[in-house]
Amino acid sequence: MIKDKNIPFVNLKSQHASLEHEIENAVSSVFKRTAFILGPEVARFESAFAAYCDAEHAVGVSSGTSALELAIRAFGIGPGDEVITVANTFIATALAVTYAGATPVLVDIHPDTYLMDAENVRQAITEKTKAIIPVHLYGQPVDMDPILELARQHNLVVIEDACQAHGATYKGKRVGSLGDAAAFSFYPAKNLGAYGDGGMVVTNNSDAADFIRIMSNVGQTKKYHHQLKGYNHRLDNLQAAILEVKLPHLDGWNAQRKKWAQLYKELLVQSEFVLPYVAEHADPVWHLFVIRTQEREELMAFLQERGIGTGIHYPIPVHLHDAYQDLGYKAGDFPISEKFASEILSLPMFPDLTSESVHYVSEALLSFKK
Ligand SMILES: *Cc1c(COP(=O)(O)O)cnc(C)c1O
Repeated sequence: MIKDKNIPFVNLKSQHASLEHEIENAVSSVFKRTAFILGPEVARFESAFAAYCDAEHAVGVSSGTSALELAIRAFGIGPGDEVITVANTFIATALAVTYAGATPVLVDIHPDTYLMDAENVRQAITEKTKAIIPVHLYGQPVDMDPILELARQHNLVVIEDACQAHGATYKGKRVGSLGDAAAFSFYPAKNLGAYGDGGMVVTNNSDAADFIRIMSNVGQTKKYHHQLKGYNHRLDNLQAAILEVKLPHLDGWNAQRKKWAQLYKELLVQSEFVLPYVAEHADPVWHLFVIRTQEREELMAFLQERGIGTGIHYPIPVHLHDAYQDLGYKAGDFPISEKFASEILSLPMFPDLTSESVHYVSEALLSFKK
């Protein structure tokens, strides 16, 4: 008997309830000390997150978007330079390239993984190319070795967009430790979410880490001594205090997501929908569980009627947004990204989902048009 008739796409309430006291203590400790900017919580969380990613440095910043921009700028990339990324990503990946003054060059995705395809990258490399941004979308790690090999051959920087992939591994190595630098987001619904905005750059390059630390803090090397025209892109101390409480739980939450992903796959194996493909090299963290169908709009409405929330990540590929008409791309340039954008549907996925809910959602999916 299924009683759960309201299954949201994502629900953070039970996660908050499970940590309420610890979080309140952490936050009230910051309140009591009135230490709101770059306090010890930021430094401690940076060290803990660097260790978690098997990387040497981590610099807290204000969002995943600012993490990407500062990582790009840390390698001297700017006006006149081209940065290759995928058409199938959140707009922020491209925006960060634009903010740095460089030009986003888009490539189509691999039809199995929906992620960056090294062969497409190879064809997009020009004299002006300076960097590649593979995006570990949906928490699925990109096949990095061929991309890193291309980068070596052409002397390019690799910046991982790991904003959806905290804890995912590629050939046993954590994402974030694979390229020259990586950007993470702590937007509340991400696998590791703050109670507001936040982000992190992770890198083994100490010059890049120093640059980002200075740039994110109004360009100052010491108080009121400004070496660079920096930004106010600091990680908020309250957010760091909360993230410090949450980080030790990340692996457990990712394990829960994995359990629900496996259950969806088992229950939906006979369905007509295209299920997520996981490459052999990948241990994903299931930020999203994305299926595909040509009857996406009908299916979404059908699920909604049954109290099931879904999402689309993302309905419009980067090159078809009004904001990016200036890049000169047109419909038809990236056929896989465009086709999939009209077919993908993200099912409910969050650590505190229940087995009953996954069964209920799966049964609803199996009964569609039957
Ligand atoms: C969330 C996200 C970002 C941006 O992160 P914010 O913290 O929202 O700025 C960038 N890239 C991808 C793939 C994301 O999912």
